[in-house]
Amino acid sequence: MSTPTTSATEQWRQRYARSVMNTFGTPERVLVRGQGARVWDADGVEYVDLLAGIAVNCLGHAHPALVEAVGAQMSTLGHVSNLFTTPAQVSLAEELAALTFPGAPAQDVRVFLANSGTEANEAALKITRLHGGPARPRVLALEQSFHGRTMGALALTHKASYREPFEPLPGGVEFIPAGDLEALRQAMGPDVAALVLEPIQGEAGVRELGPGYLEAARELTAQAGALLVLDEVQTGMGRTGGWMAHHALAPGVVPDVVTLAKGLGGGIPVGAVVASGPAADLLGPGQHGTTFGGNPVACAAALAVIRTMRSEGLLARAASLGERWSADLAGLPGVTEVRGRGLLRGVGLQERVGPSGEVAAELARRGFIVNAPRPDTLRLAPPLILSDAEADAFTDCLALVLAERLGTGGGSA
Ligand SMILES: *Cc1c(COP(=O)(O)O)cnc(C)c1O
Repeated sequence: MSTPTTSATEQWRQRYARSVMNTFGTPERVLVRGQGARVWDADGVEYVDLLAGIAVNCLGHAHPALVEAVGAQMSTLGHVSNLFTTPAQVSLAEELAALTFPGAPAQDVRVFLANSGTEANEAALKITRLHGGPARPRVLALEQSFHGRTMGALALTHKASYREPFEPLPGGVEFIPAGDLEALRQAMGPDVAALVLEPIQGEAGVRELGPGYLEAARELTAQAGALLVLDEVQTGMGRTGGWMAHHALAPGVVPDVVTLAKGLGGGIPVGAVVASGPAADLLGPGQHGTTFGGNPVACAAALAVIRTMRSEGLLARAASLGERWSADLAGLPGVTEVRGRGLLRGVGLQERVGPSGEVAAELARRGFIVNAPRPDTLRLAPPLILSDAEADAFTDCLALVLAERLGTGGGSA
């Protein structure tokens, strides 16, 4: 394998290693094209993409509705800054308000448009500061949380190796054990500005918080006068089978603030903060801003995503395929459990299978892209247009790979 090779992939990798900052290591694969749930690498090898750019490409690759919407907007009006608004921006804000807070009167909900998940969380953190003021300096976040890499969102992110080299970070954030109601009860108080959490912790390996947790989080924050901020950057926009994960997980719970990004633009960078009630009016003129956020092309992409989800019934599709597929996967020897909802799934692996990173690498060699957010878990976050045949082909391939690693397979390694 280490003989000097001049494959196209190797050439691009060498140029990458010399030119791109080493924040990700040099990726194994160089992708050049996508269509539906398939992608192709620089040497023409085809893969089924079960990661979708980390829960982003909800319509798959090169979906005609998205291509058309982006092209049409770009050739009409590509960018204006927030000194102006556009029909695309206003229409998207209206759609997101209604999708995120379906029960709320429209005038109670407002949207801030950003370019990414971390930026959406930055704006949300600013809202919590305005809500809290000097009397409420504390913000509660959960252990194993991931909220992004810019300084404010990073302060809310639990992993020490992500945070510590960049301290001091914005202060006042305290981490409590995820899903632990008693810990939440003890930490909550009149000096807390907000509780920030992911309804399903994505980067932690697709972990739910347990029955009743979101309900209790809402009740305790309301009692204490703190905001409940739900980071639905990964779980929102249909990924889990409803527009928002919290709609199905905790139907009675109405948060104050919801952040969105990943699937929102179907691959075009766009994020959003959606707030309801008093939290919707906290940010005033001059207190926050962005040059690109709310860009008409990004908004047109998000509107096309929403339209297509509706016309192709992708929420129901994510729910039904997700249920069936996870039941199939949970039955495979070597799998401990399948967590998550809809088409956001964490596949737990038995220890004797070996590290999930090795399993993911073997699956990639056989044409399936997944990732390994923790050493005992594979994450599946495919396009919501994934076909039954593609899902089943993966189930068969994973069965084979696990059988080989457990020493019970046909041995065609
Ligand atoms: C990915 C992610 C983010 C960060 O989004 P970026 O667009 O990478 O900045 C924040 N929160 C959650 C829950 C995420 O999964």
